[in-house]
Amino acid sequence: MTTPFPADVYATRLARARALTEEAGLDVIVVGPGPDLTYLAGVEGDTIERLTALVIPATGEPTVVVPRMELSKVRDTAVGSLGLAIADWVDGEDPYALVMAAMPAAPVRIGLSDALPALHVIPIADRLGVRPELATPVLREGRMIKDEAEIAELRRAGAAIDAVHRRVPALLRAGRTERDVAADIAAAIVAEGHRTVEFVIVASGPNGADPHHEVSDRVIQDGDVVVVDIGGAVPSGYNSDSTRTYAVGTPDPETARRIAVLVRAQQAAVDAVRPGVTAEQVDAAARDVLTAEGLGAAFLHRTGHGIGVTTHEEPYIAPGNALPLREGMAFSIEPGIYFPGEWGSRIEDIVVVTADGCENLNTVPHELTAAGA
Ligand code: ZN
Ligand code: ZN
Ligand code: ZN
Repeated sequence: MTTPFPADVYATRLARARALTEEAGLDVIVVGPGPDLTYLAGVEGDTIERLTALVIPATGEPTVVVPRMELSKVRDTAVGSLGLAIADWVDGEDPYALVMAAMPAAPVRIGLSDALPALHVIPIADRLGVRPELATPVLREGRMIKDEAEIAELRRAGAAIDAVHRRVPALLRAGRTERDVAADIAAAIVAEGHRTVEFVIVASGPNGADPHHEVSDRVIQDGDVVVVDIGGAVPSGYNSDSTRTYAVGTPDPETARRIAVLVRAQQAAVDAVRPGVTAEQVDAAARDVLTAEGLGAAFLHRTGHGIGVTTHEEPYIAPGNALPLREGMAFSIEPGIYFPGEWGSRIEDIVVVTADGCENLNTVPHELTAAGA
């Protein structure tokens, strides 16, 4: 078996998804390839034109509909180790008939995973004769609360990306381009235990003022502040995501002062995390520190996002999100300040909510870090 967790972990997740389906009043949910299917059964990969789907009725056993040419790959996951029912098909046959056959009789409320493409949604809806709805509320519930095995993988990812950040000061030097530094960082992400590089942002000087800047051919200058935001997936598929801000040479004192305020804001949000506190309260904890120092307008985005088998998932730590935090939720805390045409800074850790606070998965110091000039 090639899944990262033992079969009983997936059995628990599937049982929970079934129970949540029933609780939500849905008759059945249909889960296509994507993060939800990876989470529930260890089946990786994206949607292809040939339909693969996990059909979970509110009562009864799940069925996996799969093209025969994908069968051995799918059997090599929790689908095989748990002995789930399989309905396979070959080109020329009708996979949607198999989906219908796996459903309870005359279903009224059908939930579809949000990664299922229109290519498959429309034929399923046509046969049902009722309008399907999103299974997101059901599927989100399981994925949002990480179990011990998942937290261990997120910890592993956090330690791996910390090891990369510890190498960054030696790679960032005046005279090198962002692109050259990013290539070295990408190699370090793999060398430190990730199976894939998900993103590498090296935003130097004025490029740091653009939160979405990735890399460019800009040559790093003495006196630059550089935002380095990096992440990858460890072999289990769980992701890292961490940002630190580096100084090449001696930064301007006012810049250093503002970054010290940002470090305080980030820590205030980390300190605010505990069960029962809402996502928007955590966002406000960071925002209030910046606003009090006249930097509120420079903070252009939400404070954080959930992380797991994807790098952006629920819960979103944002203004207006009244979701109360619960033990096992994992998300980033990443306030930033951006001064167009000048510079920017962001500090990001991944935290996991514990019974009375949170565990910070990133241990590299937050302060502006001196890099080789
Ligand atoms: Zn964004
Ligand atoms: Zn990031
Ligand atoms: Zn992030």
